[in-house]
Amino acid sequence: MRILVTNDDGIDAPGLHALREIAGTLSDNVWVVAPETNQSGAGHSLSLREPLRMRQLDDRAYAVRGTPTDCVIMGVRRVLFETPPDLILSGVNMGQNIAEDVTYSGTIAAAFEGTHVGIRSIALSQAYGFNGNRRARWETAIAKAPSLIQRLLAEDWHPNVLMNVNFPDRAPDDVAGTLITRQGKRDENLLAIDERRDTWGTPYYWLGFERKLSNPPNDTDLWAIYNGYVSVTPLSLNLTATAMHAHLTEKFAKG
Ligand code: MN
Repeated sequence: MRILVTNDDGIDAPGLHALREIAGTLSDNVWVVAPETNQSGAGHSLSLREPLRMRQLDDRAYAVRGTPTDCVIMGVRRVLFETPPDLILSGVNMGQNIAEDVTYSGTIAAAFEGTHVGIRSIALSQAYGFNGNRRARWETAIAKAPSLIQRLLAEDWHPNVLMNVNFPDRAPDDVAGTLITRQGKRDENLLAIDERRDTWGTPYYWLGFERKLSNPPNDTDLWAIYNGYVSVTPLSLNLTATAMHAHLTEKFAKG
């Protein structure tokens, strides 16, 4: 099995090394194509107005001055052009990618892109920042990911589906289990804008996310991560709102 590893935290991120280690337990044919710089929050963006620079780090690792989506395209269509990967793994992201994070996340976008080009793709994220813990517990992702990935690959995947996997902020032995979840929705507006002044007195702004617990339904990714479970959410590339589509079709059929 040939595996392409990428991320959005950048080529030097500790989570990328963790994922290379995870992939190495599944195959000895592991390739890395990851962004030169941190691309968190890049979503599914493409570089169309700038050239892509690619730097080779070793026999099977490349850094691309671009987005996670650029990296998947360069990995599949350029680096591994002759023999495409059988699996794309994206992450391990430093921080959970759940609920509204899904459309902002470059980690998940790389898996969207992999699915788009017909390759089974899994996004992996390590939750941290719970209960005052400021260190990402990479050992949890490293301990839990290999068997989980094998278990997922043993199933038939429906077309246009990718997997969004999040590991809880718990030590490996304290993980409560694994839950198949739905994408949740936070019940508070967590986006914060911090205004500061530069040396000329001109205001500038930092976007930030406050980490607050809400009270989500127990079939969601939010509930799983808040309660110490590994969360597996199958996501669909097709964003059509099926119920609304049916409703409007009926209304508009009457002219
Ligand atoms: Mn990130």
